[in-house]
Amino acid sequence: MTDYVLTPPARPSVAVDGESARFPVRRIFCVGRNYAAHAREMGKDPDREPPFFFTKPADAVVDTGAVIPYPPETSNLHYEIELVVAMGKEAFDVPAEDALSLVYGYAVGIDLTRRDLQLAARDKGRPWDWGKAFDLSAPCAPLHPVQRVGHPSSGRIWLAANGSIKQDADIADLIWPVPDIISILSRSVRLTPGDLIMTGTPAGVGPIVASDVVTGGIDRLGEIKIEIGDPTSRRVGT
Ligand code: MN
Repeated sequence: MTDYVLTPPARPSVAVDGESARFPVRRIFCVGRNYAAHAREMGKDPDREPPFFFTKPADAVVDTGAVIPYPPETSNLHYEIELVVAMGKEAFDVPAEDALSLVYGYAVGIDLTRRDLQLAARDKGRPWDWGKAFDLSAPCAPLHPVQRVGHPSSGRIWLAANGSIKQDADIADLIWPVPDIISILSRSVRLTPGDLIMTGTPAGVGPIVASDVVTGGIDRLGEIKIEIGDPTSRRVGT
């Protein structure tokens, strides 16, 4: 047993549909611009360039039903509904045709984004972290294990803000489908059980503010719901 100088932080985890046991999260990888219409709305050419990735800390995950305080240092918080892939086995330099056998399951997630910080970083050639990798920025609905839902490659993906549909597309429209994403990512890092991959968002992203309720879903993978709360005003630490 390793001794630690302070109590280790709790391991982040995601619920699993129909089970009391949870999926332990190791890392969160995210794909940028993986639907053509969203690439266009972000002012970028959706030509099939190689996918690019960014990350969020593992403890950015938060369960469906959460009230998420409006995050600090932004005035343009955006939703991005996404298909989430949960890795169940190691993957290093795997070909696309072998990639799906390494998946544990799939879920609906939201890539919350401080759009103003992301675009400022993008325009200055700086890292995206401050726009993407903040606290509670990765709401994730319960995972659906592969043995129950297979490998969804088509189906409606949608998001509504306060009941009004904002994003409505099909996961078949992913520029880089899940097997390719896993294969390409596994050339750069050794993926391990516990890694999540947020696969990118379709068109229709937009701002949300305190008291907004955001819902979304993907066919066969259920739904997610979050509410944006007031900014956290209480100072922590002295
Ligand atoms: Mn995204």
